[in-house]
Amino acid sequence: GEGLPRPPATRVIVVANQKGGVGKTTSTVNMAAGLAMHGLRVLVIDLDPQGNASTALGIDHHAEVPSIYDVLVEGKPLADVVQPVLEVEGLFCVPATIDLAGAEIELVSLVARESRLARAIAAYEQPLDYILIDCPPSLGLLTVNALVAGQEVMIPIQCEYYALEGLGQLLRNVDLVRAHLNPALHVSTILLTMYDARTRLAAQVAEEVRNHFATEVLRTAIPRSVRISEAPSYGQTVLTYDPGSTGALSYLEAARELALRAVAPETGAPTAVEQA
Ligand code: ADP
Ligand code: MG
Repeated sequence: GEGLPRPPATRVIVVANQKGGVGKTTSTVNMAAGLAMHGLRVLVIDLDPQGNASTALGIDHHAEVPSIYDVLVEGKPLADVVQPVLEVEGLFCVPATIDLAGAEIELVSLVARESRLARAIAAYEQPLDYILIDCPPSLGLLTVNALVAGQEVMIPIQCEYYALEGLGQLLRNVDLVRAHLNPALHVSTILLTMYDARTRLAAQVAEEVRNHFATEVLRTAIPRSVRISEAPSYGQTVLTYDPGSTGALSYLEAARELALRAVAPETGAPTAVEQA
């Protein structure tokens, strides 16, 4: 695809929402593929014990595969667990295996338990333009590790009833982590997912979210699409599974929008500036 500007430093984006099934994993892998297909170098870190992002990227994640668990709990270097995504040049993945389910408890007694992912990323020397972290549907130590490691939070919101319910808790956690552990952290991006243009409800929810988060919501909303939901069972993103589909085109466009949003590094505040 066409080239996009490289950010001056690696943008680490935490994809979070403690609700399950809102499109976190789908958005992580497809935005990541979109960025990579625009010519950028992108790493997906799967931080959900379910390993859905690993599956969707065609990455083996049975129990013996070196994974993010080894990094967080055993202190293994990130470089030892990164795998290339064969379908998409420039895209890489750190898989999650089922033992990550125990990490939430094991981390409690470890030193620097909130900043183990941040340290691993800081020590990673390969050049990357983006790191996208797919969080589990909870606000425990795994998600806290992601929030300490990132500068930006991207929240996928499903265009359904109660879309904003529970978001306050995530936003308070972001504020807490910013105040105590990571001053750069901010919610930079909100992505509307599973948008059904035929229903009034979706339009109403989208409008409510846009009123609430005027600058953060991407113009591109991701439509509800069977192709998007089919792709993971083939170990693919929708961008390679069905490149011409509206789902693929919308994720490509959302990725472009994300990349064109300039971020002022001193303040961490997103600006509306778009580059050519
Ligand atoms: P989360 O990671 O927040 O739990 P997922 O990304 O796994 O959510 O999405 C939940 C389910 O919805 C999955 O089965 C996924 O395939 C499906 N899904 C996600 N986005 C779309 C979409 N735009 N259209 C249709 N199905 C979708
Ligand atoms: Mg998920």
